[in-house]
Amino acid sequence: MILARRSVLAGLALAAATGARAQAARAYDTIVIGAGLSGLRTAMMLAEEGQRVLILEASRRIGGRIFTLDALPGHPEAGANSLLSGYGRALDLCATLGLPLIDVSPRAKLARTDLVIGGERITMADWKTSPRNPLPEAWRALPPAAVPLTIAGKTATLEGEDWCDPANAPLDIGMDKALQRAGLSPAAIDLAYNTNPGYGRDASEVSLLNLLFVSSFFATQTASGGKDHVVTGGNQRLPEAIARTMKAELRLDTPVAAVTQDSAGVEVRTAGGERLRAARVVCAVPLGPLGRIAFDPPLPPLHAEAARSVPYMAIRQAHIVADTPFWTADAPPASLWTDQPVGTLAANRGGATDAEITSFTAWSRGALAETLDAMPGEDASRQILDGIARAWPASRGRLRVAATHSWKTGPWQGGAWAVWKPGQASRLPRSVGAVHGRVHFCGEHSALSARGMEGALESAERVAVEILLA
Ligand SMILES: Cc1cc2nc3c(=O)[nH]c(=O)nc-3n(C[C@H](O)[C@H](O)[C@H](O)COP(=O)(O)OP(=O)(O)OC[C@H]3O[C@@H](n4cnc5c(N)ncnc54)[C@H](O)[C@@H]3O)c2cc1C
Repeated sequence: MILARRSVLAGLALAAATGARAQAARAYDTIVIGAGLSGLRTAMMLAEEGQRVLILEASRRIGGRIFTLDALPGHPEAGANSLLSGYGRALDLCATLGLPLIDVSPRAKLARTDLVIGGERITMADWKTSPRNPLPEAWRALPPAAVPLTIAGKTATLEGEDWCDPANAPLDIGMDKALQRAGLSPAAIDLAYNTNPGYGRDASEVSLLNLLFVSSFFATQTASGGKDHVVTGGNQRLPEAIARTMKAELRLDTPVAAVTQDSAGVEVRTAGGERLRAARVVCAVPLGPLGRIAFDPPLPPLHAEAARSVPYMAIRQAHIVADTPFWTADAPPASLWTDQPVGTLAANRGGATDAEITSFTAWSRGALAETLDAMPGEDASRQILDGIARAWPASRGRLRVAATHSWKTGPWQGGAWAVWKPGQASRLPRSVGAVHGRVHFCGEHSALSARGMEGALESAERVAVEILLA
């Protein structure tokens, strides 16, 4: 009798639990996967329209590729650095959220960059006539870092509706070919592109079309006022403010493993085995992590190809501090662009005055980042500090690496930004944002007009409109 009563109670409890699950199963209008800028902004907009929204974030923090190092002096950025003048969406969002901005353009004007090539330190004033300059006459005055985008922008023109319009397919060639056509020798390409690449491991790995998109985007930013802004206290305050004010539910430490859709809705399975249902799902994750989610039905062929094969930029940063500044205000240290295993060194000005240098960031890119990632951290730091000391002897023993961050090795990004290879740039970018039944896709890689944070916001707007009009 007691047993029977117990089993009735257990049955009622089970029924209640199942009912609660069924209710939960119907509870969300939209589940957003990823709490980077694009996912947070999508959730914010849908919640503002009355939707019940849940965000599932794999890591223990929000912001994704926005990542301010709050423990270091001056709040240096490990991720997104600046909001540019033409970032209409981002600037407007900061104003709406009451986030004050700092115009850091005056700081950029104070910065001086010296080159260190073959162990020799060369000022920009001496670069044009330096025997170490392998560039042809037309491009000789350019600093190596400016060569790829300048040549892309001055030697080719975009056609059509957007940068990846099929009309631009003839420009979907390797950047190495574009540089050869501009008269650069293999040695010049090696120095100006492959030494500290911005996109890919070397010039052959990126499409000219990708760099044309970047150069036209920067030209628009310059035409819009040419200013750089950061959020006061660090760019991390932007995702934090969205998360604080939005009416959506957010769960951290909850990677999504599978997405299954049928005519009634979408089921999302977390890596922990929990199953959640919603009418629609937004994938706001980069392409590499997207490829590790199991989709049923499978991703459309071009989404799957992009998730499998679009490389993401390897960037590793060492954040360096001087416990006691050992330079004088009238002779501040220069930033360095080197062909040594240091990569480039940026002097960060994050203090109360524009001139104050608060930390340094050594940026390793491409193959150098991958080499350092494979080394024990202490060895990598020693190599970087040694390299800096060779170029700047006064720094020996006075600097220490306070933090490092690699965007390539982290599981939830796979790199700093998408790099469209030759042959991909005119085919894939338009496809990766296409709706797949009840599943939508956003993120920086799917933006067609803007790049970086502004691109992430552009893609969030597209997806929110897709869902609200569905
Ligand atoms: C070093 C660096 C410098 C940059 N500089 C600038 C700059 O100066 N200006 C600029 O505008 N932009 C810059 N950017 C680019 C900018 O940071 C990004 O374009 C933008 O933040 C991307 O936002 P997102 O939402 O598309 O992706 P992300 O920020 O990558 O967000 C994706 C989120 O999805 C989560 N996720 C992944 N897989 C799963 C899963 N299976 N389940 C649940 N969650 C998952 C991730 O943890 C992450 O939080 C920079 C980026 C880097 C790395």
